Amino acid sequence: MDQDGATRRQALGLGLGALAAAGAVEALSGGHAFAAVGDMAGLAWANNAMRWAQVAFTEEDPPRYDPNFWFDLFKKTHIEAVTLSAGGDIAFYPTKVPLHKRARDLGDRDMLGEMIKGCRALQMSVVCRVDPHAMSEEAYATHPEWAACTADGKPRRHWAAADMWVTCQNGGFYFDFMPAVLKEITQLYGPEGFFGNRWAGSGMCWCATCRTKFRAATGLELPTGNDPQEPRRAAYILWDRQMRSQQFKLWNDTVAAVKKDCFFSPNGGLNDPNTVVHPLVAVDRQGRSGTTPLWMMGKYAKQVRAYMQNLPVYGLFNVGIEDTNRWKDSVQRGPELEAWAHAGIAQGFRPWYCKFNARIFDPRWVAPVTRIFEWHHAHDKYMRNTANLAKVAILNSYQSGTFTAGGVAPEAGDGIRAAARVADAQNGYYQALVEARIPFEMADDRQMEPQHISRYRVLVLPDVAALSDAQCRQLRAFVMAGGRLVATGETSLYDEVGKKRANFGLADLFGCDYVKTESGLKNSYLTPRHPHPLVRGLENAPRIIAATQQLTVRPHDTQRQPLTLVPAYPDLPMERVFPDQEDTSIPMVFCREVGRGRVVYFPMDIDRTFWEVLHEDHLLLLKNAVLWAMDEPQPMTVTGPGLVDISYWRQKNSLAAHLVNMNNPMFMKGPYREMLPAGPYTVSLALPDGAKVGGVKLLESGTVAKTKMVSGRLVVEVPRIRLHEVVAVELA
Ligand SMILES: [Zn+2]
Repeated sequence: MDQDGATRRQALGLGLGALAAAGAVEALSGGHAFAAVGDMAGLAWANNAMRWAQVAFTEEDPPRYDPNFWFDLFKKTHIEAVTLSAGGDIAFYPTKVPLHKRARDLGDRDMLGEMIKGCRALQMSVVCRVDPHAMSEEAYATHPEWAACTADGKPRRHWAAADMWVTCQNGGFYFDFMPAVLKEITQLYGPEGFFGNRWAGSGMCWCATCRTKFRAATGLELPTGNDPQEPRRAAYILWDRQMRSQQFKLWNDTVAAVKKDCFFSPNGGLNDPNTVVHPLVAVDRQGRSGTTPLWMMGKYAKQVRAYMQNLPVYGLFNVGIEDTNRWKDSVQRGPELEAWAHAGIAQGFRPWYCKFNARIFDPRWVAPVTRIFEWHHAHDKYMRNTANLAKVAILNSYQSGTFTAGGVAPEAGDGIRAAARVADAQNGYYQALVEARIPFEMADDRQMEPQHISRYRVLVLPDVAALSDAQCRQLRAFVMAGGRLVATGETSLYDEVGKKRANFGLADLFGCDYVKTESGLKNSYLTPRHPHPLVRGLENAPRIIAATQQLTVRPHDTQRQPLTLVPAYPDLPMERVFPDQEDTSIPMVFCREVGRGRVVYFPMDIDRTFWEVLHEDHLLLLKNAVLWAMDEPQPMTVTGPGLVDISYWRQKNSLAAHLVNMNNPMFMKGPYREMLPAGPYTVSLALPDGAKVGGVKLLESGTVAKTKMVSGRLVVEVPRIRLHEVVAVELA
């Protein structure tokens, strides 16, 4: 961690030229240049800060809150860095910046200063939270042009605070006023950095400033639709990315000019991790709402680590109740808080708790949060990961989510959240790999150079529709050198900006050519053809369900494949529900040896269908595909009951195998009401070359583990997992 963090460079080469609609699309989407402008050695504190807290103040806090409550809690929870509300929409210190509205009940106090002083006394690092998304009535009266506008040009009142206005992310509020605020805070308090909440605006703005700037950059009018294939929308996506980079650079330079190594960290990171490397990224995933599997916090960790590499990433969770409607002043149940935080910790997040309102209305969150952080602190050395040992990765295709049909551009400023098209296929394969207990990571389509992907043996491409010619070449080289691909659906059928190709970009690897795509199919089935490792476990199943979207393809050869199609037929009236053709030789999977590697291609959305139906036959196919492609033992295997999310890490002098118990009726939709211990499990671990095992402990149970060596692997008994057990292996 320290090594990697210290040697990586902060890159600020933004290439902000004039933007022409078509040219910009091409020029901006292929660039991977890093421009080194500073050494990150001065940011060692960020590498070392394992536990964070955040207190977001309210206007009524200053005379009513108890600072000592917080200092005591920071001590008990071993917090090393804290994020405190400073300013932007509302100031919590006696600001002198014109129109920077002081908190209603601030009076003559300096709440920010008091808190910083106390935190400094505890040797904590301090990051100031700024929020630029709203402004006061007075600011609006003086600068009506700072307001964001709707498509018909009307200024936007704040949707929740009737006396405030929504600000435009491309105008004076962001580019003149906020730099003045950031400069003043840095001068007065010298924080280590800034954390920007809602830093990228509140959706698209159609004010005069935006219209003028967009026209100057692209020669186009602002779009009103959301179709990424519409040229104005495509240009807007890229222009918005440019504007956020400009904003980031301005804010970052502003604070760094006052204090060396001070930085601005946008919540969730920038959309393009290649233009800016952040010293740390906090990902705001406050809690579960709706149908959300518990592993989702771990998925966020994997997605952001995919481009942050070994730099620190923080999983920010809120102690309140998070739903579409938010109840900020009540609190989430303890078991859910623990489960959500630990699901992220197991996959490499450092924990960061967030409390809105400095006053405590309901203290029931304090005990469970303290338990999470005390445990994390007690086992600190096993949380300082230097490498993840998984050999399988799912490719996160940001580009497919942004540019292909069915994809809707993700919100600006959210560097990892994918559009539904990408997320559904991805979540299907994710769930399958969790159920299969195959340790895996995520890779990022913005970083597919060999130094990023060659550590994996298998790359899974769940409907990764948009791939550039260059990316296809990278994948081809990966396979020729011995890498393995598992791909589904329309993978590689579009280029990097969503233009449909006549054929798959990876047709040579798949072993077939594209003919057409059909969606919404009913009563479509597959016939398993034995023997083949892909259909192992389906010996008693003469027919299994296919997917709802299928691709007609033209095979390159007549090689027998282990799945063939029973074509779709009507689902009504019942008298008509029978197949026209019971048996065909149409292959619905292509399992091939290519170069020194292997490729499995499913011409259907089997992963997305699995996410919808969760059928076990699909689970077997998705799992077998990865096992056949891998063709060597997984570094970590687990036997035992039910659902466990696993990961396998290396630290400086130890190994840590994580198991999160997801056997709970509230696994798919929170909140967890109670912990339901499960076990026993047997964990088998491959050891790094030359590694000698010292002691082996179970961190949750607090016991010495029962172990044996079997064929060079370390086999560990885990009698019972309450929530999150860690097999900690000391290396001698
Ligand atoms: Zn605007």
